[in-house]
Amino acid sequence: MFYQLCPNCNEEATVDFYYHKQEEYCFCNSCGYMRTIELKPGAWRKTFDGITSDDYIVTVVNNPYGAFYYKYYSSDVGAQGTLKNEEEAKAFMMMCIESNLVSEAYIKRYEHGVITKNQIIPIVID
Ligand SMILES: [Zn+2]
Repeated sequence: MFYQLCPNCNEEATVDFYYHKQEEYCFCNSCGYMRTIELKPGAWRKTFDGITSDDYIVTVVNNPYGAFYYKYYSSDVGAQGTLKNEEEAKAFMMMCIESNLVSEAYIKRYEHGVITKNQIIPIVID
């Protein structure tokens, strides 16, 4: 794993690169930007020399709603990912609030040049 500047918010995005298949997974946990480069199903049957750029699927989420994070009481490791739009963000919030297994959850967003963090669990009362 290494880091590169996120093209969306300029924070550090993590990049996982899998040499054997030349696949890449890039994710920014500040804004939710993601980019994946994956071999198409079946392309692994080709020899390495026979693989061309046509054998890859590139997925980019350039202007996501945000990045989510959540963690269960039962685990030390949380999960994170991209929220593409407001509908996904609402569904994520509902899932966290309705579950009594989630010990921590938040959404980070990049808007108007600023990264904001919206803590969902534990519920913060101002
Ligand atoms: Zn970013």
